[in-house]
Amino acid sequence: MDRAVSTARAITILGATGSIGTSTLDVVRRNSDRYRVVALTAHRDVDRLAQLCCEHRPDYAVMADPAAAARLEERLRRDVPETRVLGGAEALCEVAAMPEVDTVMAAIVGAAGLLPTLEAARAGKRILLANKEAMVMAGALFIQQVQRGGATLLPVDSEHNALFQAMPAAYVPGWGRPEGVTKVMLTASGGPFRTIPLGKLSNVTPEQACAHPNWTMGRKISVDSATMMNKGLEVIEACWLYAMPAHDVQVIVHPQSVVHSMVQYQDGSVLAQLGKPDMRTPIAHCLGWPERIDAGVGALDMFAVGRLDFEPPDLQRFPCLRLAQDAWRQGGTAAAILNAANEVAVQAFLDGELAYSDIPGIIENTLEKLTPGDAGSIQRILEDDARARACAAALVAGQPGRRMYL
Ligand code: NAD
Ligand code: MG
Repeated sequence: MDRAVSTARAITILGATGSIGTSTLDVVRRNSDRYRVVALTAHRDVDRLAQLCCEHRPDYAVMADPAAAARLEERLRRDVPETRVLGGAEALCEVAAMPEVDTVMAAIVGAAGLLPTLEAARAGKRILLANKEAMVMAGALFIQQVQRGGATLLPVDSEHNALFQAMPAAYVPGWGRPEGVTKVMLTASGGPFRTIPLGKLSNVTPEQACAHPNWTMGRKISVDSATMMNKGLEVIEACWLYAMPAHDVQVIVHPQSVVHSMVQYQDGSVLAQLGKPDMRTPIAHCLGWPERIDAGVGALDMFAVGRLDFEPPDLQRFPCLRLAQDAWRQGGTAAAILNAANEVAVQAFLDGELAYSDIPGIIENTLEKLTPGDAGSIQRILEDDARARACAAALVAGQPGRRMYL
């Protein structure tokens, strides 16, 4: 039988219109005999999702925003009548768990991705995890659902993917600590403000914060990279994925973004994964795993790279990293509170309502005001997420000297 018919993987892409979604579809396009797109989802970008539906002709297209779903339906009725349009947050969960789907790319940004990603775990899918916020908010529940549902958890985040590639051969994340591993080292570029004088941070603009020196990404994660909250979230993500305590997860600033992370073994070996800073490499690794497939990424030229530098993170410059490490130590829903406050503060900064340098204060004050609860309950996680959002929004609104920065 034709290989395309017999073995194509059926895939749902949550967050298809985003940076990771776009890179995923690029890799899918290069390997079109291996994948069949069953569902594509987006928040409210009707034009972009309509375009993607015309090209990939999925069985389902979901807009999280119901009004946008109605507009998409009208648009597709003529051009792609075979695509069924669904709307609303529940539909995201539906297409993540459908029996005909075997692979789910979890690439929604932020807390909005939590429930559909949990659904994919419960339904035993092969989950390509980009949505780190889901793991940060509900790591214990997520790992529990992966194990109960028999899901396969493959990390897309470049650092965690690098760690996975450097782990013992038979090891898969989500099923306990890898044998013989003493430490993992997460590399961080240091973002666009690694060397800017500290006094200038209060005046930086969203455009400057989103101009990452090495990676092209969505706006939220770009700001997280500038504050290094991204690395804080990634420390928590690594603790859950690899069942390691935070003191075995070391953060190392590596401005070139060539070494994507490293695993240290008890015999003194350190294994690293290197590559160009292009998310299509980790995405292709997860899509093809355990095989290797074409990612469209060129070879790494070590002479052009020339040198690799490593330095410790400066916690005075990057207080968000410390806040995330503290929240992890605190336990319970503290990480969900941290994540929610960060989402609100970052959005306020992007909207010109908060100074960049006030982002850490909003998160710290929210964590001080709220008492974390039991992270074994999804209800409590969602309640604390909502409480933290309300608290952080009030703090943003009450910010002395608040002004428009755009
Ligand atoms: P993005 O902003 O470019 O795209 C986000 C996607 O999520 C879009 O398709 C958008 O429509 C969808 N979305 C947004 N809000 C939604 C909502 N309320 N309901 C349903 N869908 C919603 O973001 P991105 O850069 O692609 O990042 C996606 C995830 O991957 C994030 O969790 C990020 O931390 C992680 N990640 C991204 C990169 C990268 O290079 N971009 C690298 C590592 C990890
Ligand atoms: Mg990363």
